[in-house]
This record gives sequence, structure tokens and C-alpha cells, in this order.
Amino acid sequence: MKILQNVIDRVIEKNPNEPEFHQAVKEVLESLEPVAERYPHWVKAGIFDRIVEPERQIIFRVTWVDDNGNVQVNRGYRIQFNSAIGPYKGGLRFHPSVNLSILKFLGFEQIFKNSLTGMPIGGAKGGSDFDPKGKSEGEIMRFCQSFMTELYRHIGEDTDVPAGDIGVGAKEIGFLYGQYKRLKNSFTGAITGKGITWGGSLVRKEATGYGLCYFVEEALKAKGRSFEGATVVISGSGNVAIYAAEKAERLGAKVVAMSDSNGYIYDPDGINIDTIKRLKEIERKRISEYVKYHPNAKYFDGCSGVWSIKCDIALPCATQNELDKKAAETLVANGCYAVGEGANMPSTPEAIKVFFNNKVIFCPAKAANAGGVATSALEMTQNSIRCSWPFEKVDAKLKEIMINIYNTVSSTAKEYGCEDNLLVGANIAGFIKVADAMYAQGLF
Ligand code: NDP
Repeated sequence: MKILQNVIDRVIEKNPNEPEFHQAVKEVLESLEPVAERYPHWVKAGIFDRIVEPERQIIFRVTWVDDNGNVQVNRGYRIQFNSAIGPYKGGLRFHPSVNLSILKFLGFEQIFKNSLTGMPIGGAKGGSDFDPKGKSEGEIMRFCQSFMTELYRHIGEDTDVPAGDIGVGAKEIGFLYGQYKRLKNSFTGAITGKGITWGGSLVRKEATGYGLCYFVEEALKAKGRSFEGATVVISGSGNVAIYAAEKAERLGAKVVAMSDSNGYIYDPDGINIDTIKRLKEIERKRISEYVKYHPNAKYFDGCSGVWSIKCDIALPCATQNELDKKAAETLVANGCYAVGEGANMPSTPEAIKVFFNNKVIFCPAKAANAGGVATSALEMTQNSIRCSWPFEKVDAKLKEIMINIYNTVSSTAKEYGCEDNLLVGANIAGFIKVADAMYAQGLF
């Protein structure tokens, strides 16, 4: 009997109806079996049982009034999963699909991702089932103010530092921070992703997408390949997708397809990133509008079709479980040789198997998309020392962090006899640091 199967079984039993959380726990614990064998004192100290149980889960009502004067009620969450190596840190997601299962999977993944960055940050995640899409600016502001009116008492620069995620961009962060500051009557770095004029860090906006490309570049280099001349397909057209596309292009690739939750565009000339930025960041429009400005491009309904476009490198940057077994098989059949996960858990376990069976270079989310939270930690540092670093300095630090993560992950995979399996390397390396800290700090 494997040592950790009991832990997985207990998680499933204790947390019914939470499939995404089960999926994330299984993926991590299944690769930690050799760690449990090597460190029996961690098993005895209950580290594995403790790490799958959030330290604190906060669920609260968020009431607000819409533009028609109607009272609206949403549910707010903050999952403070693990604080062994630093204050809780992780984004806030506003999307109608948000529930406890999704936030627990995200919070759990965040523990290991944050550990891999080498920065002193614990793991958390939060959000609401509020849908910012189609809401007026006034409605978004009133919702954010109400959300923060409860959340503010649970966060702080040394306690828990939220940031953005799906549906929480610059606008939402502004409203959330404004309310936090008003309630606390103090100006501290308790949220990251802030505007540049009020404590934000340069490169934070670009960091997840840029970091993803820096990581993939290292993985490609190890196999004698590069972005230069490669064809790239990216899902999503939000924060991560846009800056992954921008960096991939700057590294010499041609990005030919992007998507949103309604459909995808294919542009044989290479996607014009400025058009995407204008449509998505400024006008908040659908990606279908792109073809109005680029007549050679085509729009197709249905977002999953994006994986049918032939490419060398695929970068899933939209949401969890967006790339299934069939999509993985199509990518492989079309010659795709590398996949870099910008989104959290975008590939299903069956899709990941297809990638490994076909020797696709697979860059797992918790390592490859860690650039965002790493730069958030750099924002926290700048806030603490009350200064702001220039773009080039932050970008150079981000690149260095991503290269370090790649080296740690690939050498750990090798050490545990799984050369080239960056997923196992990321899980083990991320876990060991946190487990060591938990063991040293006694029972909590
Ligand atoms: P955004 O809200 O900026 O963009 C999300 C994109 O994904 C949009 O194009 C959206 O389309 C699409 N999308 C969302 N939900 C679905 C769905 N159910 N099916 C298909 N498409 C969907 O979010 P981010 O770019 O910030 O986040 C994207 C992913 O990256 C998430 O998994 C997030 O957790 C992860 N991530 C983000 C980080 C960050 O720094 N922002 C850091 C690390 C990971 P539409 O506009 O139609 O909804």
C-alpha cells in the first residue's frame, strides 16, 4: 500500500463534491511518494495530512445594490491555506464558476508555487461568484467595496496579501485597495498588482506571461530548441495570455491563435497584440471583434477548438481543465512539441499523460506561471523599503527567478529518478521547503 494513498482517500471523504480540489491533491501527493519514503519523520509528524487541510477558510456574504436599485447577494471567500514560509499570498478570482472546490485547489497549488519562487510567501486564494462581465463601473466599485468591508479584517502586509486573478484586473484592484486603505486608515502593501502611481511594481502586469515564456525558453533550450521561428497557439486573451503572446513574439515566435470563453481567432499573419490589448484591456470587448480590424483572420465559435490549430508550442492561459485528452492528442498529432501552462491546472490528468507518453516538453503551471506571484513578492519588497525599481531591474529579477525555478525543478526531477518530468520536480521541490518549515515549527 502506498503511504500517501490513505491521505488522498481521507481528503476525498472529508471534502465531498470538490472535484478540482481532489484533482490537485492527487496530482501533488502521487508524486510525493518517494519523499514520504525518504523522510519518514515527516509522515510521523502528520505533515502530509496537515498540508492538505487549509489553516483557515473564511466564507462571507457580500451584498451590494445594482444600477436598477436591486439588492444583489454574492458569496465571498478567502482560503488561507499555509503560512509556514511567509504571509498568505494568492490572488482573488471573480467569476460565476467560483466555489469552494476551485478556490481550495488554487490555494493548495499556490503553496508549492510560492515555495518554488524562493520568496518568503505562504499560500492562499480567494474570490467570489460575482461576474464583473457586463457590469457598470459603479456596480463593480460597489461590489468591491462591500467585498473588502469583510475581507479587510483578515488581511494585512504581514498576514495575508491578496492580488488579482481571473476577473480581477487593475480596475478591481484599485477599488479593493481604496476601500482597504479607508477602513484601515493606513497605506501599506496589503494588496499587490497596485497601480504604478500608488505602490505598484513595474512588470507586475506583464509578469505571469513574461515569466511563462522565460521558463519555457529554458525548457526548450535544454532540448536544443527555442521560440525563434516557432508557431504558438495561446488560449485566453486576458492578462496572462496577452503578455505571454507579447513575450513569445519578442523571442521570435509567431502567435497564430488566441481565444476567450466564446470562441477563438486564427490569424495566419500572426496575431496583432496591440489590437488584442485595445479590445480586451481598454474596451472590454469579445475576441470576435478582432476580425473587423484584420480581414485575413478568422473567428470560430467555441473556445476548445483553439487546440485544433497546428502549432509547435501551446500555451494554455485561460482556466482549469481547458485542455483535455482529445485536445492533447490533436496537438501531438499536429506536431506540437512543447506545452507551457500559464493558467492554473489547465491540462486534465489524461492530457498530461498524453504529453508524457509523446515526449512533449511539459512545463507545469506551478513552476511555469510562478512569475506573477514572484513579482508580487518583489512589489511587497519595494513597498517595505519604500522605493520603486525601474522596469529593467524588475524584469531582470523576474527572469533570474524563472531560470532558478527551472533549474531547481529539473535537478529535483533528476535527483528523484524522473529526469525531464518537470511536474514531479516542481511538486517535490515546492513541497520539501514547506514541509521542512512545518516540521521545524511544531504542530500547527
Ligand atoms: P483574466 O480574467 O485576465 O483572463 C482570463 C481569460 O481566460 C479570458 O480570456 C477569459 O475569457 C478566459 N476564460 C476564463 N474562464 C474561462 C472558461 N471557463 N472557459 C474558457 N475561457 C475562459 O485572467 P488571468 O489572465 O489573470 O488568468 C488566467 C489564468 O492564469 C487563470 O487560470 C489564473 O488562475 C492563472 N494565473 C494568473 C496569474 C496572474 O498574475 N493574473 C498568475 C498565475 C496564474 P472571457 O473574457 O470570455 O471570460
